[in-house]
Amino acid sequence: VYILGIETSCDETAAAIVKNGTDIISNVVASQIDSHKRFGGVVPEIASRHHVEQITIVIEEAFQKANLSWDDIDAIAVTEGPGLVGALLVGVNAAKGLAFAKQKPLIGVHHIAGHIYANRFEREFEFPLLALIVSGGHTELVLMDEHGSYELIGETRDDAAGEAYDKVARVLDLPYPGGPQIDHLAREGEESINFPRAWLEEDSFDFSFSGLKSSVINTIHNASQRGETFNKEDVAASFQKSVVDVLTAKTYKAAAQYNVEQVIVAGGVAANQGLRQALEAKFSETTIPLLIPPLNLCTDNAAMIAAAGFVTYQQGKRSGWDLNANPSLMLN
Ligand code: ATP
Ligand code: MG
Ligand code: FE
Repeated sequence: VYILGIETSCDETAAAIVKNGTDIISNVVASQIDSHKRFGGVVPEIASRHHVEQITIVIEEAFQKANLSWDDIDAIAVTEGPGLVGALLVGVNAAKGLAFAKQKPLIGVHHIAGHIYANRFEREFEFPLLALIVSGGHTELVLMDEHGSYELIGETRDDAAGEAYDKVARVLDLPYPGGPQIDHLAREGEESINFPRAWLEEDSFDFSFSGLKSSVINTIHNASQRGETFNKEDVAASFQKSVVDVLTAKTYKAAAQYNVEQVIVAGGVAANQGLRQALEAKFSETTIPLLIPPLNLCTDNAAMIAAAGFVTYQQGKRSGWDLNANPSLMLN
């Protein structure tokens, strides 16, 4: 079974062809980072316009690289939400138009289900599994008992992890997106500043990063008011340590409590070297296998959308012609 995946929820225009939900045949991502950089973040109107310009080219390239034609395609999977509505609409309408013209089944996919299924290119899932989702808009712990089933056991009460990275990066005058920049600086710094860690209630798997973010901003602000210099590398390393400590500890605790067969990590922040190392160290002490996708599959792409769409396809579920962009779509 070959699925064409389409993803336009934020600032990447992406198309991919995936075989049986596990083999990437082609994976094309047109990033818009350069267009948004000078604004310090994603500008929704600019994102939509770029998607319109790129979508046809990206889909054609996915076919060329795969050396396949429309006859080979069994279904079209597209991100229906969550994300920027004007950005989602481009992918959804492209998918609907193509599904209608080529007479292919249409499958709407939740963007975070996509991030989760990026791990299935690594290894077959074993249930129950625990997914740590850390992206630009989400920080969640999700329990899966079977394919396509998602139970939220914890989530952020304020900022997402990626959002905290991007905001801290901005006060450090680092270019957008800030996550990879802080990751890089952190490797050269020392964890010398003791920033807060929000553990919340004893039995809670929720997260909170806004206090940490404020603490970093205050530290920088106070230092510059007093005319003191501070070391950006140390701020980056200390901030990252605080984020990684909480993510690692809560993931470990949840994995033990729910007695899971696998732990998987998903979303853009899963590309973070500090987080990858900490999770690998923690889970290497256990018998629970840990899966983390390669860097290019952590951030937004369409291969993951096709992989999640394959599961829906296998379950016999199809979307209708009323499929629409849903910026606040829930996982389940
Ligand atoms: P969502 O998936 O929640 O809708 P999104 O699609 O915008 O949001 P992703 O593409 O999954 O988010 O991830 C982008 C985020 O990941 C950004 O916040 C970015 O700073 C962060 N990020 C990417 N690489 C790294 C890294 N190496 N370290 C930390 N953060 C990173
Ligand atoms: Mg992005
Ligand atoms: Fe994403």
